[in-house]
Amino acid sequence: MLYLSTRGHPDRKRFCEILLEGLAPDGGLYLPESYPRVDAATLQKWRGLPYHELAFEILSLYIDDIPAADLRAICAKTYTAQVFGTKEIVPLKQLESGLYLEALSNGPTLAFKDMAMQLLGNLFEYELGRRGEQLNILGATSGDTGSAAEYAMRGKQGIRVFMTSPHGRMSPFQQAQMFSLQDPNIHNLAIEGVFDDCQDIVKAVSNDLDFKRRLRIGTVNSINWARLVAQVVYYFAGWFQATAEPGQKVSFAVPSGNFGNICAGHVARMMGLPIETLVLATNENDVLDEFFRTGVYRVRTGADTHETSSPSMDISKASNFERFVFDLLGRDGARTRSLFGEELAKAGRFDLGSDPAFAQARRRFGFASGKSTHADRLATIRDTWQRHSAMVDTHTADGLKVARQHAKAGVPMIVLETALPVKFAAAIVEALGREPERPAKFDGIEKLPRRVTVLPPDVQRVKAYIEQHCA
Ligand SMILES: *Cc1c(COP(=O)(O)O)cnc(C)c1O
Repeated sequence: MLYLSTRGHPDRKRFCEILLEGLAPDGGLYLPESYPRVDAATLQKWRGLPYHELAFEILSLYIDDIPAADLRAICAKTYTAQVFGTKEIVPLKQLESGLYLEALSNGPTLAFKDMAMQLLGNLFEYELGRRGEQLNILGATSGDTGSAAEYAMRGKQGIRVFMTSPHGRMSPFQQAQMFSLQDPNIHNLAIEGVFDDCQDIVKAVSNDLDFKRRLRIGTVNSINWARLVAQVVYYFAGWFQATAEPGQKVSFAVPSGNFGNICAGHVARMMGLPIETLVLATNENDVLDEFFRTGVYRVRTGADTHETSSPSMDISKASNFERFVFDLLGRDGARTRSLFGEELAKAGRFDLGSDPAFAQARRRFGFASGKSTHADRLATIRDTWQRHSAMVDTHTADGLKVARQHAKAGVPMIVLETALPVKFAAAIVEALGREPERPAKFDGIEKLPRRVTVLPPDVQRVKAYIEQHCA
């Protein structure tokens, strides 16, 4: 399997080459040259496989430069009941007839990002070991990504993590999760500023090519193809649990921010998984709902980006969306380059509303969308608690709210649970007047000693810190 850039660069690369890279050289995102098709007989064969075996079968369609025995061992070591809490790894919970929650949030940091990040940690360690190289991961987080990355990389050979976060702005639980890690290869940098300041610092460091090369700086952001392909697996696992017959279709509802999670659903559907509709749910930051309603993709300014009670979906643009648009445009790299390069730089928006490809997109790709507000979130959390005795977090509530708008008789609807309520306790207290349930292993986490360095929003200071700690 070879990988190409969504912006038409002529080079083709193999999986382990793009594993440690970010963007393609022309600024595009990597995608496989084609999506491997999985027929009904193969689906039947996979039914009943343990999750790590299913992961191996799917990943091996995309990865041919890691020996099969090694890849199988990496999957087996990643997806264990010990790490993810159950032997199903992603168990379905039925809320009512035809409506399910798929639990993706029982990993080490209680959000779905663990599903991919835990695999990425093991793939990085394997590939760096094979090359005899080291990697210093620099990232910016408003909460979930940073903790998932740290818990995936802690104690790994050849890897250090430098994670910037806005000082005092993550939820108390998220701060405790990250800052209580004592592993010497994990560095928390609390920046006196907002999330954008953290992102700007990461960008400035990455743009210093000499520093980047000399200190072997890398990233783990959601445009990494390995993260995306790891997420494809749980769409298959969800389908197996909700169906008994080969041709039965299901729909998925996905709380969306950067379009990473739902893009994996798109890939699963392109591979032939019988998905009726991919329901995209946004919060007040409705960049993507607007696109699927109108064909207009409009990047928001900072002032136009809302701080909401589902903060992991507070985006001004969707960094994985280019992958879907590339497919929508019949994989026209030149056109994708012009839309995401020149047009966005010039106008901050593009409009595919009158393009025949957009008109056909709903049928061809099965997308639907909707938006959920703070009031919707609280009402959904309350309703789900009262009627089903199930506590859902704010992001999952956005998904559930929009899922109900698109439910169809006879087609099971699976809502992806992207975090547990304890991560966003304030909204639960507001909705239910009580504290969220807390898994026992997190008891007293706020009282543990903390390892964090507070720095001003100053690129030079961050660079100096990295340099000092890369001995
Ligand atoms: C990251 C995140 C999302 C958004 O996922 P994308 O892949 O960016 O669309 C939704 N919910 C939670 C809890 C998250 O951490």
